[in-house]
Amino acid sequence: MAEIGRAIVKMDVEELLKHLNKALSDEWLAYYQYWIGAKVVKGPMKDAVISELQLHATEELTHAELLATRIIQLGGTPVLSPDEWLKITNCGYDAPVDHYVEVILDQNIKGEQCAIRTYNKLMDITREADPVTYNIILQIITDEVEHEEDLAALKEDLQLMLLRRK
Ligand code: FE
Ligand code: FE
Ligand code: MG
Repeated sequence: MAEIGRAIVKMDVEELLKHLNKALSDEWLAYYQYWIGAKVVKGPMKDAVISELQLHATEELTHAELLATRIIQLGGTPVLSPDEWLKITNCGYDAPVDHYVEVILDQNIKGEQCAIRTYNKLMDITREADPVTYNIILQIITDEVEHEEDLAALKEDLQLMLLRRK
């Protein structure tokens, strides 16, 4: 544990660890939602959508890595069992039961919007109290904003293409 690194945190570290473990659970669920979505997605523009979903999956895994590393630095234990993910998640999990591209894009857009709101709150909590965590969250939320935009752009392309065909 980073002893002095933990001591400089000007908030309840246990409370911060809870937030970080909730976010870590979100990231694993987001990872799997993208990963499995890329496998099952069907419909127009499938190839472009698959590439984006796969890329986002790897980026969510990078977020999980950043969060787990920070949790350990602070003397906490990252969630040890997938059982925990659904219990403590902020943003939940939306199974891609309907495989149609637009439905999968919508589900993931909703997930990104939840992630952005969640990290935005976490930035408010850590901005003054823990600049190190704040900086990590800032990196992550920057990706989430990009993810929302990437998916929205794909959805727009899809809608334009379908409109032109009529
Ligand atoms: Fe993420
Ligand atoms: Fe994301
Ligand atoms: Mg992207």
